[in-house]
Amino acid sequence: MESFDAQNVPSPVFFADAMLGRLARWLRILGYDTAYDKIISDESLISRVLTEQRWLLTRDSYLVQRKVLRGRHTLIASDHLQEQLRQLRSELLLDLDLSEKTASRCASCNNILKPIAHKEAALTVPAYVASLHPRFVQCPNCGRIYWPGTHWTHMLARLQELRAS
Ligand SMILES: [Zn+2]
Repeated sequence: MESFDAQNVPSPVFFADAMLGRLARWLRILGYDTAYDKIISDESLISRVLTEQRWLLTRDSYLVQRKVLRGRHTLIASDHLQEQLRQLRSELLLDLDLSEKTASRCASCNNILKPIAHKEAALTVPAYVASLHPRFVQCPNCGRIYWPGTHWTHMLARLQELRAS
């Protein structure tokens, strides 16, 4: 198993391979800078991992045999999101705290989300959402607006479960 010195890397930056789209989205929501490209050649992927100094997360056991990736990847064992997060938590000591303090990133494009005024969000989100949630954040790149919704709450509970185990 490759070693990862989590103590010296307070905020790891990741590159998730094409099979890990769902994990990439959740790492972003958790605040981790996670590059993801659904269609990318092995060569381009390796080149980005090296030049951007990212930690590769992959399901590809052939890819990780490449010498240049030695000591800079985690071979993800499971197809299931919760197991994948569990693996990262135990091997990389990832903090899976999805509190409101976390500087979250856009699940879709990895940019850091910025708070926006409630009345501004209310112009875009459904009325019932605006009436239920006092705070909203927006991606400055794609314009997507986020709020702690049902899926979020469900995931939060699962992450808490996972942290307690
Ligand atoms: Zn975005």
